[in-house]
Amino acid sequence: MSTNLLSDRINSLSTSQTLAMAAKARELKAQGIDIISLSLGEPDFNTPEFIKEAAIAAIHDNYSKYPPVDGYVDLKEAICLKFKRDNKLVYTPSQIVVSTGAKQSLYNIGQVMINPGDEVILPAPFWVSYSEIIKMSGGIPVEVPTSIDTDFKMTPQQLQAAITDKTKMMWFSSPCNPSGSVYSEAELTALVAVLEQHPQIFVVADEIYEHINFSDKHCSIAAIGNMIERTITVNGVAKAFAMTGWRIGYIGAPEFIAKACTKMQGQVTSGANSIAQRATIAAVTADPSVLNEMVQAFRGRRDLVVGLLQDIPGLKTNIPEGAFYVFPDVSHYFGKTIQGIEVKNADDFSFLLLEKAHVATVTGEAFGNPNCIRLSYATSEDLLKEALKRIKDTLTN
Ligand code: PMP
Ligand code: GLU
Repeated sequence: MSTNLLSDRINSLSTSQTLAMAAKARELKAQGIDIISLSLGEPDFNTPEFIKEAAIAAIHDNYSKYPPVDGYVDLKEAICLKFKRDNKLVYTPSQIVVSTGAKQSLYNIGQVMINPGDEVILPAPFWVSYSEIIKMSGGIPVEVPTSIDTDFKMTPQQLQAAITDKTKMMWFSSPCNPSGSVYSEAELTALVAVLEQHPQIFVVADEIYEHINFSDKHCSIAAIGNMIERTITVNGVAKAFAMTGWRIGYIGAPEFIAKACTKMQGQVTSGANSIAQRATIAAVTADPSVLNEMVQAFRGRRDLVVGLLQDIPGLKTNIPEGAFYVFPDVSHYFGKTIQGIEVKNADDFSFLLLEKAHVATVTGEAFGNPNCIRLSYATSEDLLKEALKRIKDTLTN
């Protein structure tokens, strides 16, 4: 194909490995191969009925015109109440921007905050799209490697060491995709102590897995000290409310950043889907206890998957406290040939599992960690048991 006719920008962009692996798994399934996909971070639950009803009512109420570019006012008010209720964050509607998914919120932030040459600190592993979104803005991702030994969390010393006079931002997720790690209030406070010495650094706190948290409590970095003045809190309904396809995300941010993101959307999308926005009002105003059953199911699956992984020789497994991923260190197998496949790195290991176990996972390389692979446990217990059995058989036979 004539990639030379395309822009340098798109030619230098990596394909999203999460979406690519999901597509590959679908393709193999269509060929009749019995693939179990643990690749995509997508709840297998259906969107709750009360949210669907709100969308149907919105259709009947003729919400068919262009919505305000930054979101309906009553949705933005509902998001402010949610931020106060769940995160102790006081935002006004002028600080909220509703987008076509948290991914677009992140893209907006990259475009409106980053100049070419600006450095953005990324504790690694990080979510796959951060580095590409930053690069698309001309920014330089500065990866700070962490390992299973520190539960994949960045220490204040590491943060301090990564800061230069070019550092513009730090982006992170808690609960973390892909490690499932959750930063405690004490850990975030220690990072803030470093950031307080560098008031020019802005923070992106991606809290899209906020409700899928098995630890004590979710803590928002923007609620610590004066961080609200330089934090962009990103959230959305995709994960907690099983609404990945509805494509709604949002930010709470300093007003000048919210205005800039709105300006950007005004030229690019004209705002997020009107029906999905009306449904999102029902989601964000619901008491989070409606999610208890789903969160308990994820916790049960987490325990199941971690237990089965611990039973496989050579894998070092973290115990994720949130999200629905586990990120085992598979480096024990590097340099070995298994079932005729030479495993040099995490890419090869993930390929081995796809080819021989027919289980789709995502290589840790995509998330900035070369020793691990990511498994999503957002699927049924029966499929998880079968997948883990196949992995064990592949590695031990
Ligand atoms: N941030 C993280 C950490 C994610 O895992 C995802 C997954 N899609 C997103 C952002 C994007 O969410 P959305 O589907 O709302 O665009
Ligand atoms: N966030 C999910 C994942 O990490 C969905 C895929 C994507 O948006 O890249 O798998």
